[in-house]
Amino acid sequence: MAEKIWHENFLMYMENIVKNPIYTGLAIERKSDGSLKWVTSKKSKIGQQRLIWAQNKALEMGLDIKPGVYAKVMYELHPNKEKVCQICGQTMELSYVYLNVNFSNRILKKFNFSADIFDTIYDVTDQLLNQGTSKKVLKEFYVKYLSLDLDPTTTPMKEIIRQMEITCREGSKNALGPGAMSNFPDRYDGFHTYNRCCRSLEDSGRSKENLKSYTKDRRAYENWSDGNIHAANKFMGSAFFADTSADHIGPISLGFIHDSRFLQPMSSGENSSKRDRLDKTDIDKLILLEQEYQISAVSWFAQVIWDYIKADYQENAEPNLTVYRELLKKNMLAFMEVLWIILEETGENGQEFLTHFYLSTKMDNFKYNYVFEESGDYSVQSLRNITDSTLKEYKRFVRISLNSVQEFHEKDNRKIKIKISKPILKKIKKLVKMIQEHPYDSSNQILHIDIMEDIQNDILYQ
Ligand SMILES: [Zn+2]
Repeated sequence: MAEKIWHENFLMYMENIVKNPIYTGLAIERKSDGSLKWVTSKKSKIGQQRLIWAQNKALEMGLDIKPGVYAKVMYELHPNKEKVCQICGQTMELSYVYLNVNFSNRILKKFNFSADIFDTIYDVTDQLLNQGTSKKVLKEFYVKYLSLDLDPTTTPMKEIIRQMEITCREGSKNALGPGAMSNFPDRYDGFHTYNRCCRSLEDSGRSKENLKSYTKDRRAYENWSDGNIHAANKFMGSAFFADTSADHIGPISLGFIHDSRFLQPMSSGENSSKRDRLDKTDIDKLILLEQEYQISAVSWFAQVIWDYIKADYQENAEPNLTVYRELLKKNMLAFMEVLWIILEETGENGQEFLTHFYLSTKMDNFKYNYVFEESGDYSVQSLRNITDSTLKEYKRFVRISLNSVQEFHEKDNRKIKIKISKPILKKIKKLVKMIQEHPYDSSNQILHIDIMEDIQNDILYQ
């Protein structure tokens, strides 16, 4: 069986949980490589020890040992009621605050608002109120939908939502669900390793295309990918990929674009084994697509290296694909590190600078509906109504992009290391100063592009 890749955030989460004194005495072992044996079975010795531990906790809490008690105990004990997802590394709440499909659809129909998978009922309520829904109407709707024994006119919104959460957690209604389902004693903390965000990816037999593409577009945002990102998201979620998954011909983690025209169908098995590898067929395809559509296969910050690779590839009978991958990977690290320095040194000004020059320019992508051909080529079908949810998609894109810089910086167990040379650091220092003074000055962007060209030349020739 293929070993699953566990997200680094999840590895950190596991260590923090095990270290927390709340869990002192709860059985766990380590493998020979030092990693935690988080997963066990109920029948195993460790599983049995875990059950006894939780039974004692239940007694301390005054709970009877009956079905559902472990879920309750492990939820009550959990230090911050937030759990990291093993697959994607995102955090979700353990409380019953996420909308189930039917409830979500009902809200879409009634209020024309589309909640995303990470939206809690609190987020949804805020958004609905912001878009002009009356508080009175919303309270009445909630109370009625969940048949709560509350008077909507006198009960505050907060209390209604709290009652919704409890009603669903106790199982009498299922409008809301948790970020991760209970799973004790199989999992040390008592919850499934994958969260709601990645559930449909993991449960075989269930496939939700929108969720599949959801985790992927997130990756594109994290990698600051160029391309028509909104069209790519829509195409990935379309019927063209009903039985397969959409694969970036050039991996976005290496700096290739997120664009519907640069995608291909792939069986899910192939996709997970491919990861960020680049083979000859891919390079051939990328070169052809560039010619056909007259756009670059890579994002702006990887252009110098990509040009080098193409030239080398066409001259060599035996091109070294591992080297190509490493060059692009190093460049990606350096690119993200420069972004990190900018944000670290200039704070809000840096956010303004990056948003203004690199993110807001993509706002346009979100403004249209597209029709696709099988190749992924598209034409604009119509202008979308700029609703709150369009804006929200864009805001989410900005938020994920900016947050990813910090997350990227904090991963320190990479095999490939990168060192930025002194002359380049000097230029970065100058850029930082310029951004501090005038975040919107276009000479900032010119210098930033210049810095990225220097970095790529360093990677190629030093
Ligand atoms: Zn996830």
